[in-house]
Amino acid sequence: MQLSRSRELMERAKRLMPAGVNSPVRAFQAVGGDPVCIAKGEGPILTDVDGNSYIDYVGSWGPLILGHCHPDVVHRVKEAVGQGMSFGAPHEGELLLAEAITQAMPWIEMLRFVNSGTEAGMSAIRLSRAATGRNKIVKFEGNYHGHVDYLLVKAGSGVATFGLPDSSGVPEKMAQDTMVVPFNHLDDLEGLFQKHGQDIAAVIVEPVAGNMGVVPPAKGFLTGLREVTQRHDSLLIFDEVMTGFRVSSSGAAGLYDVEPDLVCLGKIIGGGLPVGAYGGRRELMEQVAPLGPVYQAGTLSGNPVAMAAGLATMEKLTPDLYSELEKKSAVLEQGIIEAVDRCGIAGQVNRVGSMLSLFFCEQPVNDSQTAFSTDRALYARLFHALLRRGVYLPPSALESWFVSAVHSESDIGRTLEAFTPALEEALSHPG
Ligand SMILES: *Cc1c(COP(=O)(O)O)cnc(C)c1O
Repeated sequence: MQLSRSRELMERAKRLMPAGVNSPVRAFQAVGGDPVCIAKGEGPILTDVDGNSYIDYVGSWGPLILGHCHPDVVHRVKEAVGQGMSFGAPHEGELLLAEAITQAMPWIEMLRFVNSGTEAGMSAIRLSRAATGRNKIVKFEGNYHGHVDYLLVKAGSGVATFGLPDSSGVPEKMAQDTMVVPFNHLDDLEGLFQKHGQDIAAVIVEPVAGNMGVVPPAKGFLTGLREVTQRHDSLLIFDEVMTGFRVSSSGAAGLYDVEPDLVCLGKIIGGGLPVGAYGGRRELMEQVAPLGPVYQAGTLSGNPVAMAAGLATMEKLTPDLYSELEKKSAVLEQGIIEAVDRCGIAGQVNRVGSMLSLFFCEQPVNDSQTAFSTDRALYARLFHALLRRGVYLPPSALESWFVSAVHSESDIGRTLEAFTPALEEALSHPG
């Protein structure tokens, strides 16, 4: 495989941007080697600057449920660009996208658009603190809610603990109101609430975890969260930045039938452009400025071009699309399980709809402890073996793969044909 142009560009990029990238996982540090520099995306295919093409299972980390450059999305974006790039004033596109979202997710009675998932999480937390008059928040180990200071916190081991920051540059003070419990362990959360319940403003959760690889909620976990938070007058925030319009037409809340107080959205609702949103019950959202005292603003929020991309994407999300996604993803899952079996190694595929990941381990993966103790070195070798065969997986074992509406049966078939030889190669070169 020829990668000389990618190498040359990345060398130049590394002098100007940390590791040559603008978001860390793109740098391939979890799998080793140099990233390929992308020239173009079309449907399910990425093409790099050296002309190599790959079946893409990253989909820009979630947004591209319709694949790259869906003609209707491209058309609507071009139309919007011609009408003005940004107004800093209300326009119809915001209203239409807000209507589409609130119709699909009726527990969102009102919402506010922002520019990223990070902003959505940050603003939802601010609102939850204002609405409850409490400061403490609870998050789950291995859940990611963007790079906000006080959300960049993980736990020590298993037990509930006050957080220590995960990132340098986050003062411990910033993290001291963040408490972390293991994902899927309702008992730990109960214990925490017994001690600190009156101080907890909100519990924020990825209802299907997707940022430690895919980890579905255990049976009763989400209803348990709903029940505990309600009992203590705390708010429940579903961070559906990844799962919203991905795992179902009404997100994880719809799929598991649990209504949160606040929801964070991003990724798919922007159709590939920078958009986030937070929303929920009317009386909560009415506390946001200028109606209420919770300040939150954005020069480019509700950007007309981004709204057009989001709306064009949302209009394609029919029940048929989700049932097709489910079928194709199930075929992919089954094929991977068979390839792993054929090679005689232990592996687990976790999948919810078109989000899936493969873990190399014996035990089921149901929390961050199990996710972090899988054979990630083997995943890294598999990643490279598949990349050489034209399949682009996420460059980390701890990320979700995404199947899109434009992955054809033959794309899935080609992926599975490459899988067994790639896995054999990965197994034959240990270390
Ligand atoms: C991607 C993601 C975010 C952050 O969104 P950005 O747009 O990258 O800031 C937050 N929460 C979850 C669950 C995500 O998957």
